[in-house]
Amino acid sequence: MTARMYYDNDVDATALDGQTVAIIGYGSQGHAHALNLHESGVKVIVGLAEGSKSRALAQGAGLEVRTVAEAVKAADIVMILVPDTAQKAVYDAEIEPNLRPGALLMFAHGFNIRFARIRPPSTIDVGMVAPKGPGHLLRSVYQAGGGVPALFAVEQDASGTARARTLAYARALGATRAGVLETTFKEETETDLFGEQALLCGGVSALIKAAFETLVEAGYQPELAYFETMHELKLIVDLMYRGGLNFMRFSVSDTAEYGDYVSGPRVAEGVKAAMKDVLADIQSGSFADRWIAEQEAGGAEFRRLRERDRNHQIEQVGADLRAQMQFLNPVVVRAGEAQAAAEQSTGGR
Ligand code: NAD
Ligand code: MG
Repeated sequence: MTARMYYDNDVDATALDGQTVAIIGYGSQGHAHALNLHESGVKVIVGLAEGSKSRALAQGAGLEVRTVAEAVKAADIVMILVPDTAQKAVYDAEIEPNLRPGALLMFAHGFNIRFARIRPPSTIDVGMVAPKGPGHLLRSVYQAGGGVPALFAVEQDASGTARARTLAYARALGATRAGVLETTFKEETETDLFGEQALLCGGVSALIKAAFETLVEAGYQPELAYFETMHELKLIVDLMYRGGLNFMRFSVSDTAEYGDYVSGPRVAEGVKAAMKDVLADIQSGSFADRWIAEQEAGGAEFRRLRERDRNHQIEQVGADLRAQMQFLNPVVVRAGEAQAAAEQSTGGR
């Protein structure tokens, strides 16, 4: 089966004519959705808490800002872009009581619908546009005339217009410049969690740390190990991004390619069985239960795990080396804040 892809010409942009879109939250995704839609000619109101630090930012970018409740009251379409962990509280207190009849409630990730944290009334539409990329790219790629691909889904269609409006939203976001494909909240949520856990965030970082530790424990220089296991990874991934594994193998030496075939499977032995376990925990809801319980208990385990990895040797070695490579536009992360390294004093390193 080949998935049907939707591009600009497959979508009726007029489905958003006369519609007001409330973007709730102005973070990574929120700023990109609000600004891309605004520049695509859609009427946008950003919904933020009274004391939100993002208010000045959104207003400075020329956007109208109201409280979450007031933005929802004025909107035909409400896109929830606060963190997944905060969505239930914001939805229950400020969104559901203010939804207009016929409103389309939208998500960029299906977690809260898939795991029934949010239960919208059957009288409203529920849709999703989930961009397959981080928010800052969603914005910069749109500004450069391109788009980030996305998934879309319709969970409820009370008005009969949910699908058309969801697709038109994807187009205004720029996503149909790259291609969007249809999914369900269940498929998007389960595959998204799987991808980030098994490969993109969890699997890759575990491989990087294991390779770095293997070299350092064997007595090799940590700086060299950093270049070998973290820095060079991007160069390799860039080749895959452009031409798949075939182009990576075309570009590397025959020695590297042969080693790839004979040693890669040794490293990955047992990996697929472990990935199937990870997927089973996602499908059964046991990962979601654990994560929700962790938050309700105050998040102590989460903070402990974060602290442990933040102080890993590869992070310390890497920060020093990247500070000498200003052309990378390096970023330093401390206590939850990410700051461009250029703004930091490097303290005579
Ligand atoms: P974020 O953490 O970057 O932004 C959160 C925004 O919500 C901030 O403006 C914050 O001030 C605001 N906020 C936080 N708590 C709030 C509250 N209680 N009331 C009102 N506003 C509050 O979040 P994000 O990463 O943009 O994620 C938003 C959604 O997009 C999530 O569903 C996420 O799964 C999805 N998503 C994110 C990415 C990504 O690249 N970050 C990619 C695809 C989908
Ligand atoms: Mg994802």
